[in-house]
Amino acid sequence: MVKICCIGAGYVGGPTMAVIALKCPLIEVVVVDISVSRITAWNSEQLPIYEPGLDEVVKQCRGKNLFFSFDVERHVSEADIIFVSVNTPTKTQGLGAGKAADLTYWESAARMIADVSKSDKIVVEKSTVPVKTAEAIEKILTHNSKGIKFQILSNPEFLAEGTAIEDLFSPDRVLIGGRETPDGQKAIKALKAVYAHWVPEERIICTNLWSAELSKLAANAFLAQRISSVNAMSALCEATGADVSQVAHAVGKDTRIGAKFLNASVGFGGSCFQKDILNLVYICECNGLPEVANYWKQVIKVNDYQKNRFVNRIVSSMFNTVSGKKIAVLGFAFKKDTGDTRETPAIDVCKGLIDDKAKLSIYDPQVTEDQIQRDLTLNKFDWDHPAHLQPLSPASKKDITVVWNAYEATKDAHGICILTEWDEFKNLDFQKIYNNMQKPAFLFDGRNVVNPQKLRDIGFIVYSIGKPLDP
Ligand code: NAD
Repeated sequence: MVKICCIGAGYVGGPTMAVIALKCPLIEVVVVDISVSRITAWNSEQLPIYEPGLDEVVKQCRGKNLFFSFDVERHVSEADIIFVSVNTPTKTQGLGAGKAADLTYWESAARMIADVSKSDKIVVEKSTVPVKTAEAIEKILTHNSKGIKFQILSNPEFLAEGTAIEDLFSPDRVLIGGRETPDGQKAIKALKAVYAHWVPEERIICTNLWSAELSKLAANAFLAQRISSVNAMSALCEATGADVSQVAHAVGKDTRIGAKFLNASVGFGGSCFQKDILNLVYICECNGLPEVANYWKQVIKVNDYQKNRFVNRIVSSMFNTVSGKKIAVLGFAFKKDTGDTRETPAIDVCKGLIDDKAKLSIYDPQVTEDQIQRDLTLNKFDWDHPAHLQPLSPASKKDITVVWNAYEATKDAHGICILTEWDEFKNLDFQKIYNNMQKPAFLFDGRNVVNPQKLRDIGFIVYSIGKPLDP
């Protein structure tokens, strides 16, 4: 029986391994993590992450061929294939601060693999890493190997949070990069055999190591670029009377462009897009390609611009100040169907409003008060000026209330801003909400989830991203 061990039981490691276990009943899969609380949660009824369909998959395999453990070394030493799915955040200090990937967790995992292994292993890069990371990992592994052979593969993960299980069940493609040596090709074949249990052969792409590593960064950069492109258009739409949804529909009908990822919004978030583009920028700079670096930087700059533009629109619409005014924030997660708030645009929007002395009443169906309080007191990292941190003063905490439904959040509010496209926000009783708000009642839709005309008919003053403004 093939044994798989995955180091890192996070948003990627957990769901990915659960699906491998489900689809490959004869493979034993153990997911390990240094975080005892995370492993305890994976072994409980309350999984550590919210992802539609995940509970069912875990329930079907846990205890049969899927296990979660904090006995990291034992399971690594027993495995044939080791996936490494640890976090690879942006470095905050030292060389490359603000851009380069922090590979501390990766390196310590690699050193541990080298130390505890007693047999040959395939080590799979599941985390998103800079191109050429496999070369560094090979050095660490072979230097310590005592005759043990390690084959490194790059198998980046393309799942999106909120649709992770769907994406894993039916991926557009599975990418496997390896060395072009006989041993490298043998390792690719072994990993391909795992995915072949459910992924059609034509969707499994095999490349060299560097193409696979770079493709992940490139894919995220292209996706984020589409969002920044449509968001840049949204500003122009507002200035000219065009409607960004109509423009996106017309543009997306061109089969060379395609319709996906063309929704204008308050900005992209999540743990990956910004981090991976920053990493790409850093790699370009290190390779003497400043123009290419600047090109990708612009994608992040437009994203920052979009978040600032949204805050400015709220403040200017509400008679140039939100001081002392109650603003209901609907949605805090970076997208619907996840409780993940990493790099969510809600952080910047809320901080901007708090800076103007607003009182925020925040509701998100999957985000806890602790998460929100923590996120809003995090320092904002300015990647153009790494030494420049912008802490939120602790006193501002009193300006945030976290509530557990949209009606409570909006009661007596002067304005509402929608920051996550949760389906439930489409079906709220806006007449009831309007009746219970201060007048004039403002609504700022950062995700274009409501029909602006219907809300205007109720009496709201509405701003929807990229749409004609209130007459
Ligand atoms: P995460 O922070 O949710 O999980 C990483 C886990 O690794 C943590 O639980 C941490 O405790 C654990 N860990 C760190 N060092 C360890 C060690 N030495 N031994 C054992 N466990 C260790 O991160 P994530 O969102 O799952 O992302 C993981 C990687 O996948 C990142 O490189 C990310 O860029 C990439 N990725 C993420 C997504 C996504 O949507 N979140 C999608 C595709 C790729």
